[in-house]
Amino acid sequence: MDSGRIPSRDSALETSHSPSLIDNHGRPINYLRLAITDRCNLRCRYCMPEEGVASIKHDQALSYEELERLVRLFQGLGITKVRITGGEPFVRRGCYEFMKTLKQRVGIEQLYLTTNGVETYRYIERLKEIELSGINLSLDTLDRARFKELTRRDHIDKVLLTLNRSLEAGIPVKINSVVMEDTSDEDIINLVGLVRDQAISLRFIEQMPFSGSSEVHDRSQKSLRERLVTIFPELQEYNRGIASTALEFSLPGHSGTVGIIEGRSRKFCATCNKVRITPEGMLKACLYDDGVLDLRELLRKGVKDQELADSIRVCLNHRYADGHETEADNGREGEPSMASIGG
Ligand code: SAM
Ligand code: SF4
Repeated sequence: MDSGRIPSRDSALETSHSPSLIDNHGRPINYLRLAITDRCNLRCRYCMPEEGVASIKHDQALSYEELERLVRLFQGLGITKVRITGGEPFVRRGCYEFMKTLKQRVGIEQLYLTTNGVETYRYIERLKEIELSGINLSLDTLDRARFKELTRRDHIDKVLLTLNRSLEAGIPVKINSVVMEDTSDEDIINLVGLVRDQAISLRFIEQMPFSGSSEVHDRSQKSLRERLVTIFPELQEYNRGIASTALEFSLPGHSGTVGIIEGRSRKFCATCNKVRITPEGMLKACLYDDGVLDLRELLRKGVKDQELADSIRVCLNHRYADGHETEADNGREGEPSMASIGG
């Protein structure tokens, strides 16, 4: 296999044909995150520089036909959950129709969307119709000026419209909020206010560095957990689903929940059940690798499904144990933007 890079480690399972994907550390893999574009209509400070990231050309991105073929293939390998992400998925024309195809023609039961909500409000009724399993909405503040400063765009009204329409439609909603060093307690308190009367799962995300960021990361800063517990001493940790990336808490008197995703500290690697495909078709076995298999190259070379499936299995039988190991071995210079990975 000449495409992509895989860690050199022996595995007895090289070309096993078991119906489900289990990696070389015994972790079942059943979750595929598809970044369908690296373009975006926001410029979140923690994700991109003001001018955006250099976008790939249209023909470098996987076509919807190629994406559909890959999803069918992964489904055959045991993937049961698919998340559409980006960049901003709705910036790519045909995103809704593609999701509809995945639900109705491919038969993906658990289909999720991660979105910034800027255009999504237009699609909520249709997403309800196809029985989307849930929306992860990115929202870091409820304050208009802070939103504009953080995202470099004045679109908070549209994002809140997406939130409200999703709740009205009864689509399960999770809110992703990146906590930056200058995130105020007031921002956090106001976001938590959203879950008082609404069954929203709010997750605060530890900010991770990316190459275009000029932010200084103070590694000694209080952990997110310490910070939240200081603000809300009544938080009760309740349940960590086997493959959950979030530590979850309930708050007395609140319908929704609060969680923490400690991405930078990589506390969830032991139960990682996901793989990613970037917009240009690189398979990522770990958030921190540079891509382990060039699926686009294989697709465009005309390889058969069986060969594709075997190549995927080989890569997933050589997964690193955790993100630290991945990074140490990849020797990356700077982190890419999440927009080219999908978060
Ligand atoms: N544009 C969509 C959105 O913002 O929801 C989908 C793609 S975005 C890259 C996916 C997730 O990555 C978002 O929840 C975003 O907050 C998160 N993200 C982006 N940059 C990040 C960073 N530096 N640290 C932590 N999370 C980040
Ligand atoms: Fe766009 Fe999402 Fe990145 Fe913000 S986090 S710039 S919305 S891709």
